[in-house]
Amino acid sequence: MQNRDAVFLEDLCPKLRDRCWRQSLHSFTGKKCIYCGNVSVSIDHVIPCSKGGLSVTKNCVPACLSCNGSKTDSEVFTWYRQQAFYDPRRAMAIKAWVDGDMRLSIRLLQWAEPKKIPEEKNLQQSQNIDIDVKTAA
Ligand SMILES: [Zn+2]
Repeated sequence: MQNRDAVFLEDLCPKLRDRCWRQSLHSFTGKKCIYCGNVSVSIDHVIPCSKGGLSVTKNCVPACLSCNGSKTDSEVFTWYRQQAFYDPRRAMAIKAWVDGDMRLSIRLLQWAEPKKIPEEKNLQQSQNIDIDVKTAA
């Protein structure tokens, strides 16, 4: 059998190819939801199918059921900023992902992952930054 005659199992079975693709997306994030960091069990279309979003890697992110269900057809960054678990590093990772820069996205996610900072502390930090800026000006 010559190489060009090779038939790949994945080509014979689109469902299998789809499953492999989905698994590869989950493996990019270590099976973590790109939004909140919980276990990802679904694939979320960043731009919803209903708004013309395609089932391509750039537009599909691993998500937990809670995030996937809560986001529905909302604009991703508008929705994400309203979440208690909002993390600007993850927001940057999502932006990199939809820009097709997977390497950057994964690095940002790794940066976001080591420890989860409580929401209040984040808020305090950003308020402090505001004060510093005003003092400096
Ligand atoms: Zn989630």
